[in-house]
Amino acid sequence: MISAIVFGGTFDPVHNGHLAIARQAREGTGAEEVWFVPAALAPQRDAPRATPEDRLELLEAACAASGQSGFRALDIAARRGGISYTADVMDALRTAHPDVQLAVLLGADAARTISVWHRSADVLRTEHFVIVNRSGAEPLDAAEADRLGYAPARTTLLTVHSPDVSATEVRTRCLRGESIEGLVPEVVAGLIARKGMYQQNRDDA
Ligand code: ATP
Repeated sequence: MISAIVFGGTFDPVHNGHLAIARQAREGTGAEEVWFVPAALAPQRDAPRATPEDRLELLEAACAASGQSGFRALDIAARRGGISYTADVMDALRTAHPDVQLAVLLGADAARTISVWHRSADVLRTEHFVIVNRSGAEPLDAAEADRLGYAPARTTLLTVHSPDVSATEVRTRCLRGESIEGLVPEVVAGLIARKGMYQQNRDDA
């Protein structure tokens, strides 16, 4: 029985897609909590636009406003700095919470990249997974999950309503001065506006 779902990502920024799948993953597995873990730097991609502190603040606000008492934002990876690898984050969380059955939440797009992850064999051998479909990406079926190395006994494939939102779209709209209403919680939109986040291209920053 999974009791806490660990949801890692860049969350640059957190958006309604993240929150929707977190809620449905929790409902679909019966887990009590979802722990959002923003990466300091994420492997295989450019540095996030916002600082780890700002991304964490947005996540904390989103969790508080979500009405989901089990949603928490953890600073474990942001505080540690450097590239945040799932293997290291999960080891640290297991050590800190030895009695909690953890599972890693992944969208289909992220799940397909597992072979290039740091210590992917360890991760595949050790962790439980909840994998959800993502709009715009082909859903993962049991045969593909098996081929990718996810052990059926430790993997839950969930079909969810995945809102068609990405953090890239939120950043692009901010850059163009367009509204992000409906893409992120109101409290997150307010913080982004107040802090003037995502208003400049990386080259201008
Ligand atoms: P970016 O556009 O900057 O690449 P993103 O929207 O993909 O960001 P991340 O923080 O990189 O967000 O994603 C973290 C995790 O959330 C990944 O496992 C990804 O598959 C999942 N995810 C993000 N948005 C959705 C969505 N709309 N539906 C399902 N899964 C999602």
